[in-house]
Amino acid sequence: MFTFDRIAQDGRARAGIFHTPHGDIPTPIFAPVGTQATVKSLTPAQLHELGASLVLSNTYHLYLRPGADLVEEMGGVHEFMQWPNPMLTDSGGFQVFSLSDMRKIDEDGVTFKSHIDGSTHRFTPEKAIAIEEQLGADIIMAFDECAPPLDRAYNERALARTHAWAERCKKAQKRSDQALFGIVQGGIFADLREQSAQFISSLDFPGHAIGGLSVGESKEDMNQMIEVVDAVLPENKPRYLMGVGSPEDQVNGIRRGIDIFDCVLPTRLARHGSAMTRTGRINLMNATNAHDKRPIDETCNCYACQHFTRAYIRHLIIAKEMLASTLISIHNIATLLNLVRDARTAIQAGAYDQFADEFLANYNKLQ
Ligand SMILES: [Zn+2]
Repeated sequence: MFTFDRIAQDGRARAGIFHTPHGDIPTPIFAPVGTQATVKSLTPAQLHELGASLVLSNTYHLYLRPGADLVEEMGGVHEFMQWPNPMLTDSGGFQVFSLSDMRKIDEDGVTFKSHIDGSTHRFTPEKAIAIEEQLGADIIMAFDECAPPLDRAYNERALARTHAWAERCKKAQKRSDQALFGIVQGGIFADLREQSAQFISSLDFPGHAIGGLSVGESKEDMNQMIEVVDAVLPENKPRYLMGVGSPEDQVNGIRRGIDIFDCVLPTRLARHGSAMTRTGRINLMNATNAHDKRPIDETCNCYACQHFTRAYIRHLIIAKEMLASTLISIHNIATLLNLVRDARTAIQAGAYDQFADEFLANYNKLQ
């Protein structure tokens, strides 16, 4: 049910198709994030028109509100939010561990307080899988511990827990129509990452994720850790770099064997009036845009760029109109989806290095 066809490889970069019960995911792919079962300010029809194939939602948020029981009662997350295509849920681990002064970790799981009303809850590997099964996404994630990346002693302890929990997640899984991905951790320590990639691979998950990166370490460390893990993980299964999705990180990640990315950046930046382009970010609030008749990006084929001027979008931002977030979100997600689509074409043409070098040379020209 969850086969991964590799259709081209160029260096370490791969182009493929991951088959799921709700459709095929062409890789490399960028997944927009729908934290509360909605990609902020966009309808599913708009996402579909953008060519999005995979959407992520957050277990922690849906568990607290509206509750996994309600989502299940409404037919699962696809039906609830009316996204008929592939979906992925995280395990809630990242959010729970981010609640630094509101949670307590033990070997069995984590007790935490809700950021909404302060009520006490407990996640264990078994509980996280049970919730993800109620939500019903196509790809579900193991419950892991995301440790501060530079703390060696903490990473050693967290890695032991993450590995024990990965085995428990696998045992706890009941549904066969969901692909459970294992997560490699280990901070910025090459030996821990290698050990983790070996252990997680040995559990024979249908896909693998790399967690705990882009959380404060340097870009050099991140890229090095991806290389260490890439060398160990089996080639015939997809690799997902969690929470990473800026244009340059995607180009660098694809070069190191990553197939799937997700990031809140395009919609978050949109709400702050910031547009992502192939040459860097544009702050549409800037007075220089006040009389500008050009679209956000003259090279972009999205709905926002085909119809609206920078002057108009700047006006919407200043007038605090909701359409500003919608138009900029459409554009930002289009930028990231067009980027992975072009990367895929370049891999198939055997020209990925040239594509990546040209992209990186042009990126941040604006700044
Ligand atoms: Zn655009």
